[in-house]
Amino acid sequence: MEERIYLSSPHMGEKELEYINEAFRTNWISPVGPNIEGFECDLSLFTDGYHAAALSSGTAAIHLALIILGVKENDEVICSSFTFSGSCNPIVYLKASPVFVDSESDTWNMDPELLKVAIADRITKGKKPKAIILVHLYGMPAKMDEILTIAREYEIPVIEDAAEALGSKYKGQKLGTFGDIGIFSFNGNKIITTSGGGALISKHLQYIQKAKFLATQARDEAPHYEHSEIGFNYRMSNICAGIGRGQMTVLNERINQRRKVYNFYLQNLSQDGISFLEEPKGHFSNRWLTTITLSPEVSVEHIRIALDRKNIEVRPLWKPMHKQPVFEGVPYYGSGVCEKLFERGLCLPSGSNLTFEQQNAVIQAIKSLI
Ligand SMILES: *Cc1c(COP(=O)(O)O)cnc(C)c1O
Repeated sequence: MEERIYLSSPHMGEKELEYINEAFRTNWISPVGPNIEGFECDLSLFTDGYHAAALSSGTAAIHLALIILGVKENDEVICSSFTFSGSCNPIVYLKASPVFVDSESDTWNMDPELLKVAIADRITKGKKPKAIILVHLYGMPAKMDEILTIAREYEIPVIEDAAEALGSKYKGQKLGTFGDIGIFSFNGNKIITTSGGGALISKHLQYIQKAKFLATQARDEAPHYEHSEIGFNYRMSNICAGIGRGQMTVLNERINQRRKVYNFYLQNLSQDGISFLEEPKGHFSNRWLTTITLSPEVSVEHIRIALDRKNIEVRPLWKPMHKQPVFEGVPYYGSGVCEKLFERGLCLPSGSNLTFEQQNAVIQAIKSLI
């Protein structure tokens, strides 16, 4: 049988091992060390001077972002329903409550009009949301102008979950730099990886200082261990940060490669029955994953299983959070957009290391099934 074609697998460049070897040589095998500062510096350069804190995961970054913005027990936080659970689980870690908002169909991200409806309704119920977690799904930028106008009108801070959207841009500006805080993930399946990791970025230096403080067990200044707050063990290791430094040298190349993968699928599959998510004007996607939606005559699950039998990994789109058993009964403002996407959509193998032959094999396999 042919080698399995994965959805999105790690793709190392040439520099990663050098940074790791250097860490071994100098014995910086810990959550302090020059690679961490170096990686944060690279992230800062990449995001036009925003400050960065390298952390153990994207989920940890969202958790700290919520704490920094003052979210507490019984508060409500608005979040996109169409996302991965890592976006909203940290709300529950804090004993706060999520409120889910549906997508619009141009970018599949949070619908600004429904956001407005949700905020107004929560206020009527006596609960003004404390923060908005806005996700840029699959690398596609959300409608930032509309969302930010509403957030500012109601003076609610925005956490930009750009875990899937490192390097994507809205009107020329990098994602992660629009909100009060932005977060990235460097999990193994993301556009670049540190094996596992994340980062929190902000233009407010005090937020970054606070994130680093909380991520290292909230140690006060003292020769002994002194604590006046509850902290976390959320810092990235110097080894992982070394991988990150190497990956940052190939990030732009990875974005180009993923965009090429998308274009190749688009050219060969955009026939009857298969739709692609195009970039609205001003939206630049890193094309982390190529996603398709199929017409109602075809069984999405049948196609997924048939491709899996051919050793091709495809995956349904994210199951909306308001449909997850664990979030049953959570308030949801929607018109059914993300539910329909979940029913009709698939993610195709999209890694930057896919060969031409592998991509062709995916295309031929899909063509033979439709
Ligand atoms: C991957 C991901 C996260 C979480 O990142 P981890 O590093 O895996 O904790 C959060 N939100 C979205 C949308 C993601 O895709």
